Amino acid sequence: MENTDIVRIRAHHGMCIAYFEGKGYSDGFVHHMMLVKQRMQDNPRIRVICSADEVCRLCPNNRDGVCETAGLTEGYDTAVMRLCGLSDGAETEWEEFAGLVKERILEKGRRKEICGGCQWNDICERKDGEFTADGKI
Ligand code: SF4
Repeated sequence: MENTDIVRIRAHHGMCIAYFEGKGYSDGFVHHMMLVKQRMQDNPRIRVICSADEVCRLCPNNRDGVCETAGLTEGYDTAVMRLCGLSDGAETEWEEFAGLVKERILEKGRRKEICGGCQWNDICERKDGEFTADGKI
């Protein structure tokens, strides 16, 4: 039986949560995103997926469980999965997944090659150096 406490997190949201600074698609979305980020501090079990997740649940771009820009976002998910060595539906702990994202993508300055076309890229680009050892990307 599936553990109902498992939080579904789409793979590229491992990057979004790391960079989140209180901006988003709507006030409701931002508030919910803050709650998700807080919840991750308790290191819950998560299922890493390539489709709508807990973050998407309150997003105005979520149309009946499918992201309006799924053509882009699913590509981001697939790339994060590949670099982290995970497959769709992998079950793990948040800290394990967040560590993989940090080590294999963020600290290597590879975020932009995955989601550089995202509308929030300018915000993330200003913060990329916070994750790399020399402060450069
Ligand atoms: S834009 Fe798409 S992937 Fe991002 S939170 Fe909204 S529904 Fe989810």
